[in-house]
Amino acid sequence: MPELPEVEHVVRALSPLVTGRRILAAELNLKRIAPTISRPAFNRQLQNALITGVGRRGKYILFQFESGHILTTHLRMTGKFVSLTTDQSLPPYAHVIFYLDDDRRLVFCDMRQFGRMEIFKDPRRPKGLQILAPEPLSEDFTEKYFLETLARSGRPLKHLLLDQTRVLGLGNIYAVEALFLAGISPMKAANKLSKPRARKLYQAIREVLQEAIDAGSTLKIDLADGNGSYVGTSERFWRVYEREGEPCVNCGKRIRRVVQGGRSTYFCPKCQR
Ligand SMILES: [Zn+2]
Repeated sequence: MPELPEVEHVVRALSPLVTGRRILAAELNLKRIAPTISRPAFNRQLQNALITGVGRRGKYILFQFESGHILTTHLRMTGKFVSLTTDQSLPPYAHVIFYLDDDRRLVFCDMRQFGRMEIFKDPRRPKGLQILAPEPLSEDFTEKYFLETLARSGRPLKHLLLDQTRVLGLGNIYAVEALFLAGISPMKAANKLSKPRARKLYQAIREVLQEAIDAGSTLKIDLADGNGSYVGTSERFWRVYEREGEPCVNCGKRIRRVVQGGRSTYFCPKCQR
């Protein structure tokens, strides 16, 4: 599943391709991708819509239209956008097709079909978005907000960090990486963390996300790749993620794995307290 830095890279790749383009026709071929709207209504509402920008809120991709409408897209497990020229044939699992006014087609492919789209007439309304916490790299995600959020919760830190209504944008990878960087145990209760250590965690969260965005994505995002593949690269180096049994980069002790809330947590039993 793409995490926030990957979604950020998808948005950056999409933006120059579609901003200022008009959707001449839209074609929703698989109803389940946009379950809150009928297929004809989906196609009708996006027909002739001028795209004024592409943005992101958490892991939602937002297409903004001149009309004020917003199309939200969540890639979930395997959703991806592909940009096709007229002579390229459709990739597999092409569930949504936008015919753009520059003769290209923007295609949403999704092998597993968990990706979701929704159209909102009022840009303030997107329900799933309102409950989301502040963007972790924005000015809204202040140290004060983070410390108060921790103080209010007795949940294990790993759980809290994955709760997108509390801390936005950390998936499994970046949550365990941030905890390692801050030297804090994933099992520790949020409200038991001292203020100096909470500040350290706050810095670590911003650091791992910024680092991931700066370093490029874990996915090679090529929108023009007709196969619709975002290729995973092996270049990415994780400090603890998926390194069970390997020596800790700080102390050499073996990295351990536990399951928390059904997901793997990796940590160093010596460096993280
Ligand atoms: Zn260690």
